[in-house]
Amino acid sequence: MSDKKEKFTAIKGMNDILPADAPLWELFENTVETVLKSYGYQKIVTPIVEETGLFARAIGAVTDIVEKEMYSFEDSMNGDQLTLRPEGTAGVVRAVVEHNMAYDGPKRLWYKGPMFRHERPQRGRYRQFFQFGAEAIGFAGPDIDAELIMLCRRLWDDLGLSNIRLELNSIGNAEERQRHRADLIAYFEANETVLDAEAKRRLHANPLRILDTKNPAMQDLVNAAPKLLAYLGGESLAHFEGLKKLLDANNVQYTVNPRLVRGLDYYNRTVFEWVTDELGSQGTVCAGGRYDPLIETFGGKPTPGIGFAMGMERLIELIKGQGEPAAPNQCDVYMVHQGEEAQLKAFILAERIRDAGLDVVLHCATPQGAGSFKSQMKKADGSGAAFAVIIGDDEVKNDVVAVKALREADAAQQQASVPFDEAVDYIVDQVIGGHDHDHDHDHVHYHP
Ligand code: ATP
Ligand code: MG
Repeated sequence: MSDKKEKFTAIKGMNDILPADAPLWELFENTVETVLKSYGYQKIVTPIVEETGLFARAIGAVTDIVEKEMYSFEDSMNGDQLTLRPEGTAGVVRAVVEHNMAYDGPKRLWYKGPMFRHERPQRGRYRQFFQFGAEAIGFAGPDIDAELIMLCRRLWDDLGLSNIRLELNSIGNAEERQRHRADLIAYFEANETVLDAEAKRRLHANPLRILDTKNPAMQDLVNAAPKLLAYLGGESLAHFEGLKKLLDANNVQYTVNPRLVRGLDYYNRTVFEWVTDELGSQGTVCAGGRYDPLIETFGGKPTPGIGFAMGMERLIELIKGQGEPAAPNQCDVYMVHQGEEAQLKAFILAERIRDAGLDVVLHCATPQGAGSFKSQMKKADGSGAAFAVIIGDDEVKNDVVAVKALREADAAQQQASVPFDEAVDYIVDQVIGGHDHDHDHDHVHYHP
């Protein structure tokens, strides 16, 4: 047998979320889900792996994602071409069509989960990252566009995030984009010396996407390019005006950014992004848009759709920047015990306290052994528990437990001897009555 030791690390750009951060993620996810529910959105879960063709079709062949970011592989069993999902809309739309979900009326859906893109890892840009997304399927008017945007605004409010601004645009329909496209290509051709290699490559395939460039040397050029908004026809304009009117009436601030595009064939009309200046160059925390033609291209009957996706890592980083999170409590009660009989009683009592709805950590042995009372009490202190329950020989003999308050200013004085059978009631009273317990077992508190 080989005694060679191997050390593994996570894949570059794919992160662990450690227990220290997990409470913040949990708080974030609970907040988002509560807001989604308050607008009537329902959860949908789709597989992480789909056919490669699905994404090429839904996202568009001439896009960063499909051209270079997808984790694709061949199923060694049957040769199928498969891809780790780079985004959530394609899978949701596939599921909606496959299960005939849109036939009995419109649907408000949400999803969350990991997405995979082979990008250069940097701050706010990872190879596995998490998104929350919402898709509203079967709604045609600007009212649902406004609703999705206002749902986001409520979420930023609930998360205490104030420095996120809304950018808005309309990319019209395919025919309007076609007319704009011709002028755009002519304009870029006339300025070909300024174009970088990527822009040249996209000039005829997807010129709209050039407007999206992050190359500083091209900013003046794209700022002066023909604006798609000027090419919109009556219906597209009315939709855009309708959305702006609803946003104005609801006091939603926005700026119209003519350079904001989703340069994909199946996207149309409303596009929007929520952006912050506090995350460096990866400042877009949420992006959305309408995709009315998409469902038909997947074999469904013509059904409009609109959705958004938000990057969870970027939002979590933004929340962290707002203040130091308080150390999360691991439990309400830490059980300290010494001796075989005491351990049995500790197990029984811990289960009873959990039955009563409190969180309990029972001290367990490490390779160093069970630990002295003193070392167990240190663990109890570190756990953030409000109370330690202590059972030793004396307590066993007298059929009592000692309950020690750990968080009071005069904690040293606060120790009570309680009959074993009354211990649950006593502890529940103490914990619920305590000032620093918030009844719903949400142990996360963040200072503003
Ligand atoms: P970018 O221009 O930053 O590459 P994108 O247009 O590719 O963004 P979308 O596909 O619209 O991004 O995804 C929606 C959101 O998901 C983004 O606004 C961002 O918050 C997040 N996101 C996208 N790619 C990544 C990534 N590689 N790592 C972390 N978050 C990401
Ligand atoms: Mg990208």
